[in-house]
Amino acid sequence: MFDCYNRKISYLRISITDRCNLRCYYCMPEGGVPLIGHDKILHYEEIAEVVKEATALGIDKVRITGGEPLVRRGVEELVAMIAQIPGINDFGMTTNGILLEKYAPILKEAGLHRVNVSLDAINPSRYRELTRGGDVEQVFRGIEAAQQAGLTPVKINCVVQQTSEEKDAREVKEYSRSHNLEIRFIHQMSLEHGCFTTVEGGDGGDCSRCSRLRLTAEGKIKPCLFSDIEFDIKELGIREALLQAINLKPEKGSVNTLNAFNNIGG
Ligand code: SAM
Ligand code: SF4
Repeated sequence: MFDCYNRKISYLRISITDRCNLRCYYCMPEGGVPLIGHDKILHYEEIAEVVKEATALGIDKVRITGGEPLVRRGVEELVAMIAQIPGINDFGMTTNGILLEKYAPILKEAGLHRVNVSLDAINPSRYRELTRGGDVEQVFRGIEAAQQAGLTPVKINCVVQQTSEEKDAREVKEYSRSHNLEIRFIHQMSLEHGCFTTVEGGDGGDCSRCSRLRLTAEGKIKPCLFSDIEFDIKELGIREALLQAINLKPEKGSVNTLNAFNNIGG
């Protein structure tokens, strides 16, 4: 389907949890955030229903994100449900990679096509500092497991403060080059201040070409990452929430005061 600005809407990003096993400094406060109650989080069956309705409206690309999607129990069941829905050409997941070594073969078997792994530093102590406790060796093993399982192309998401020439970013770039990984540099954003730019090596951040809708873990369809506009599938029904989100998708992003990256998934 096309929106009012003639943009083809074809991509749905789904946040399945607001919980995470890391605390990246730009995403979550050290002590965590007030969590959405389990009773408010969509069931996997409800998420699969949204994907079915969305594909009927022209969505052909789906990505599971979070929080950290691999901390939600039984995520492979959701992957299997979505993989069976006809019309999806590209089915990915964005993960921090910490649990990927174990999950890569399981996700591949369930029908996931590929993964993007977030990696902002290669140096173990820098990684620990940026993520407040993460072990980068686990991520390396997760990336290798994803490549071996065929969740390819494996892409790296690297958040930079100013430029991709920063030391950490250059090291991630070199690691990616030597491990046959595609890399995209994302400039650190602020939802509430409306700070965003285009993604280097990716297609995010360019409003005039935006094809995205987002589904939050509690069932709101958001037509724009940088906007408070949202449509509740529980109030409106799935199809109506999707249609309204497409029809009222803003021309450009402004600010989002309602969400944080950990509950909308970037
Ligand atoms: N936990 C998973 C991960 O880290 O890949 C998936 C969710 S995370 C919110 C999705 C992406 O958003 C990650 O690549 C992360 O680096 C990015 N992100 C989080 N906060 C951000 C911020 N303030 N600015 C730019 N990107 C951000
Ligand atoms: Fe967790 Fe991903 Fe946010 Fe880091 S960016 S705290 S891994 S949700």
